[in-house]
Amino acid sequence: MALHTGRHFLQIPGPTNVPDRVLRAMDYPTMDHRGQEFADLGAEVLAGMQRVFQTEGTVVIYPASGTGAWEAALVNTLSPGDKVLMFETGHFATLWMKMADSLGLDAEFVPGDWRRGVDPALVEEKLRADTAHAVKAVCVVHNETSTGVTSRIGEVRKAIDAAGHPALLLVDTISSLASIDYRHDAWGVDVTVSGSQKGLMLPPGLSFNAVSDKALAASKTAKLTRSYWDWNDMLGPNAKGFFPYTPATNLLYGLREALTMLLEEEGLENVFARHDRHAEASRRAVRAWGLELLCQEPREYSSSLTAVLMPEGHDADALRQVILERFDMSLGAGLTKLAGKVFRIGHLGAFNDLMLAGTLAGVEMGLSAAGVPHKAGGVLAAMDYLSGAEEAAAPKM
Ligand code: PLP
Repeated sequence: MALHTGRHFLQIPGPTNVPDRVLRAMDYPTMDHRGQEFADLGAEVLAGMQRVFQTEGTVVIYPASGTGAWEAALVNTLSPGDKVLMFETGHFATLWMKMADSLGLDAEFVPGDWRRGVDPALVEEKLRADTAHAVKAVCVVHNETSTGVTSRIGEVRKAIDAAGHPALLLVDTISSLASIDYRHDAWGVDVTVSGSQKGLMLPPGLSFNAVSDKALAASKTAKLTRSYWDWNDMLGPNAKGFFPYTPATNLLYGLREALTMLLEEEGLENVFARHDRHAEASRRAVRAWGLELLCQEPREYSSSLTAVLMPEGHDADALRQVILERFDMSLGAGLTKLAGKVFRIGHLGAFNDLMLAGTLAGVEMGLSAAGVPHKAGGVLAAMDYLSGAEEAAAPKM
């Protein structure tokens, strides 16, 4: 392994780069989690997370990875044998389905080709056919991290309403929250699941549920076994800024700092616009290289990552290995069905134009070093877009 100097480029689609000021914010003595100072912190981060989810409803924070928040969403709202409608958008949708299955739910998994998001028309069709209202929840991954495809949640909501179906809507935003516009209340989502290690720019270790009143009501009668994940045990202490058990205090210091950056300094609108712009620049680079995007539906291009198909006969993991050894950059691997077939460029979280230019330069140099057929000029295409050179060159009206 070559000696590497300077900073490692962590360009997987999460965990993402943690800003130095967030790291510093966590580098403080752990405080008494039953004291008033903690209660103030707890109340502040819970209120901040409501703004990030764009909800006035309940938010719950778990000291757990995103998988825990997936489980919490299911066990709080559903009962053994309940039918849930899930969609095969990729690796993470598959894992969530397997979890539902292992919890004793009756998961119908609508097949997909891992290149598109959930089709709202199909949601409507499935729910219209369910005249007995056997389906208790529709579960959708907003941004499928394994494919770089973003499903249209607002349209899924409309499809559920058009079918006049009472199913709950459960959405995973682990790789979209605080990167891609997401509206828990406006889109009538019942439970939103998220995690700390992506758009929120924190290390792994916190996960979240945003919960509608309808989901809270469902939790009163839901019969799946639960203890640690039980919302009802959380809500009493949370109302005063406390937790029912020892919270991840130092991660919450970090969350407070990240919320200041996202909400007070940059502003969510600008955060989303920045991610859109970096994603567009990345796609221009991919097209200039003559490579193919995995996502086949332009309306569903992800703004937090770009998955790139390898030319036939070339292995994505070999390319990633060359890039890691030569240029000290980690890219996302193809997962399960896509192993070796795609690499994923993460461009979410604490990120800027020069980091993206460096990332794309690492990919372009790696393609050359690994002997992967491609055209030069991807970085240049991205730079032209980022610098506004194209606009400047366009004829003035
Ligand atoms: N859902 C999505 C969309 C993800 O990207 C991930 C992890 O990357 C998960 C769920 C699982 O989260 P965790 O690994 O934090 O448990």
